[in-house]
Amino acid sequence: MGRALVVVDVQVDFCEGGALGVEGGNRVAADIAALLADPHGYDAVVATRDHHIDPGSHFSEEPDFVDSWPPHCVVGTPGQELHPALRDVPFDAVFDKGSYEAAYSGFEGTIGGLADGERLVDWLAHHGVTDVDVCGIATDFCVRATALDAAREGFATRVLSSLTAAVHRDSVSAVAKELTAARVDWF
Ligand SMILES: [Zn+2]
Repeated sequence: MGRALVVVDVQVDFCEGGALGVEGGNRVAADIAALLADPHGYDAVVATRDHHIDPGSHFSEEPDFVDSWPPHCVVGTPGQELHPALRDVPFDAVFDKGSYEAAYSGFEGTIGGLADGERLVDWLAHHGVTDVDVCGIATDFCVRATALDAAREGFATRVLSSLTAAVHRDSVSAVAKELTAARVDWF
């Protein structure tokens, strides 16, 4: 058995001061960095990133913050980078998603964001991963979607809820309920 930590979208634009900053993002970045600075039990640690080139209606000048958003994580901008607290973390792989359309789940990502790049599910399988812990931003969007896909793909999946930050805080209890029903441990 192998356990992986999947760090979802802890990027400059999703933290305070970013184009789509989520309250608590900086704290989550620092806490994940601290977890990974000490000896930890993970056999693999990977990151996902939103990686937008031209994602169509995912961006809007009048965003509804459900299906459309202010432009964020545009490739080549500082906002697309991982949070500074995580830049020295030796991630085993980074999966980029959403080049030309919305992509909430890290399982839509590939190495380099390339259409023919290795997909997260294949990478985890090749590395003998059976158990997946998910943390990052945002609880109610990309963390949720990544955890649901992980469970669907057959991984024993947990969300490390204290290492997540939500766009809509009042939705978190419903997300926890939904994930629990999908056999994700809300940890
Ligand atoms: Zn996006």
